[in-house]
Amino acid sequence: MRLSVIGCGYLGAVHSAAMASIGHEVIGIDVDARKIASLSAGEAPFFEPGLPEILSEGIASGNLRFTTDMAEAKGAKVHFIGVGTPQQADGYAADLTYVNAAVDALLPYLNPGDIVAGKSTVPVGTAAELAPRIEAAGATLVWNPEFLREGWAVQDTIDPDRLVVGVASRPSTGSGIDDGSDASTSSATDPAEVLREVYHPAIAKGTPFIVTDLATAELVKVSANAFLATKISFINAMAEIAEVTGADVTQLADAIGHDVRIGRRFLGAGIGFGGGCLPKDIRAFSARAEELGRGESVSFLREIDAINLRRRERAVHLVVSAFDDGVVGKKVTVLGAAFKPHSDDIRDSPALDVAVRLKGLGAEVTVTDPEALENARRQHPQLNYVDDRDEALRGADAVVVVTEWDEYRRQLSPEHAASLVAGTIVVDGRNCLDASAWRAAGWTYYGMGRP
Ligand code: NAD
Repeated sequence: MRLSVIGCGYLGAVHSAAMASIGHEVIGIDVDARKIASLSAGEAPFFEPGLPEILSEGIASGNLRFTTDMAEAKGAKVHFIGVGTPQQADGYAADLTYVNAAVDALLPYLNPGDIVAGKSTVPVGTAAELAPRIEAAGATLVWNPEFLREGWAVQDTIDPDRLVVGVASRPSTGSGIDDGSDASTSSATDPAEVLREVYHPAIAKGTPFIVTDLATAELVKVSANAFLATKISFINAMAEIAEVTGADVTQLADAIGHDVRIGRRFLGAGIGFGGGCLPKDIRAFSARAEELGRGESVSFLREIDAINLRRRERAVHLVVSAFDDGVVGKKVTVLGAAFKPHSDDIRDSPALDVAVRLKGLGAEVTVTDPEALENARRQHPQLNYVDDRDEALRGADAVVVVTEWDEYRRQLSPEHAASLVAGTIVVDGRNCLDASAWRAAGWTYYGMGRP
């Protein structure tokens, strides 16, 4: 099928290449000429495992092209919208400028019968507002939220754990779960059926395909992120209690995680969540709920956010209080800049926030990261960056682990690290090091929510 993907960032570039890899003919469109030049040359403009391979394969096969010219969307059957929806500069709500601009730019090139599939994460009610403009062009709007995880984005896009498609005023169909058995024979007039054809390979493998109304599809995405954020802040709240009682939050998480109703995943206490999604999505959800007169229903999200931000402060406090005479002039090496491993994304990165705060307190901060230094340098030029991990560790008075890359978690031996530094203080902001091994190697180890 001919597809266009509008917005070629972390979501859209991967979506474009992944859709080409399953046999569609894809045109990726973005207003950022540099990004398009890089993608057209088969080079991923950001770090995402597996993306370079499917990108060059798609371009070589002729199935995948990129352009800044929206006119090239003409002729595609489905137009995916994957532009950014950042937090507004002066509040918590989502900034829908890019979504509106993308839709406006696309309208002149829509053919009757086309489908516009929103993938960006938007406040509930956005699709209903956009729909009349798209319907006036004879096209149909559906909302098809994206659940990919950066670092696993290629796999998550080709082989998602579920597919959700919100359509306008569709009569209820029981559970809403289609089994995909008739995907190849569909008449392709029903927009949900067209989306089912797009995702046919995944559906044929048994991926649940859930058809909802527009509002439900929008809410599925933000509620999933609200739940994940809540789970992380829950365990971080337990870490705060553990810190004043001498308990160990990692043992607590293991013990409660054995309960299948709770589960161990996303119960890692540390410096909390960040990135281009969870923080802004829970804030936008709060703002939207307020607008709907239901602010109290999600007022807990304010606390989730507050707990999350307090943990960064806690990590900074651990570093400062590790020295008898404070942190001014101390050499602190920060291991990690990306908001999580397997990504170069530094949007709202707790790791960089810790680094910036320590610098603000007068420490001489050196940051290293396997993938995110270029982005970090651009955003925080005031910090000192060193590409080589061992070089970054040399002469440090204290080390802070803030992104749990394997390079630090598994591949850095505490004995080797001790041979490089000037002072053996380590703050494990992700509870990802083997505390006893580090202590045995002579380090003074501080974890989050651990004695
Ligand atoms: P991003 O900033 O990496 O990419 C957005 C892209 O849209 C940029 O390349 C930008 O140049 C482009 N753009 C902006 N206005 C445009 C326009 N008018 N026409 C064409 N292109 C335009 O953001 P992202 O991380 O890819 O996120 C995009 C959306 O997907 C957001 O709503 C986000 O919440 C959602 N989402 C992201 C992820 C993720 O892990 N990154 C996961 C699920 C959902």
